[in-house]
Amino acid sequence: MRTGAGVASALVHTAYGVVLGALAAGVTGALILGGIGLLLGILYGWAAASSGAYADGGSSSPPRRIWMFLVDHTWSMPNTVAGELFLLAQLVAGHSLDRTTSAGACRISVDRNFSPRYATTIGPVCAGADPTIQRHEDVHVFQARLLGPLYLPLVAGNYALFTVAPIWLIYHDHAAAPINRLGRYFEIGVYPHVWNEAIAYRIQGTPPR
Ligand SMILES: [Zn+2]
Repeated sequence: MRTGAGVASALVHTAYGVVLGALAAGVTGALILGGIGLLLGILYGWAAASSGAYADGGSSSPPRRIWMFLVDHTWSMPNTVAGELFLLAQLVAGHSLDRTTSAGACRISVDRNFSPRYATTIGPVCAGADPTIQRHEDVHVFQARLLGPLYLPLVAGNYALFTVAPIWLIYHDHAAAPINRLGRYFEIGVYPHVWNEAIAYRIQGTPPR
């Protein structure tokens, strides 16, 4: 279902854009958001089709891959769109689609990330991961699908809360990872304690020290 998935994705994106645009600003809105939806849908449809992300080749079963495609285009659509903007930025920066890693994984992998030290996952798009951190990143893919439109607000809210109210200082491992510089406050402190990272680091990876 490579090509089918790509075409379906482009059509669904366009339909969302037309409906949301029409609700917001009538015909003009439908044309503008429909056009944006079409462009983003072509981008994601191309990435999904050319890598076979939702097709055969990975470990997941055909019903699961169809289900993931449906979730990514309905309940988790806000995460998918956020991931597409992230994917677009990666491609503009000259990074490439990692088709081998994406195939059958129900996830779009990019070969590099902006930061060489970290992988980043937004929605179903994952940049810069290798096998030592892929399970961690796939936890984030799962979290987004589970919580749908709530996921990004819950993550952003936790970052904001832990930045201004560092409750994590109470249970942070100060001996192993001292917070002794301002830069470390965020990277060693806030970031690994935010709920989605705290969970993912329990599955795979070591928080930065
Ligand atoms: Zn993470």
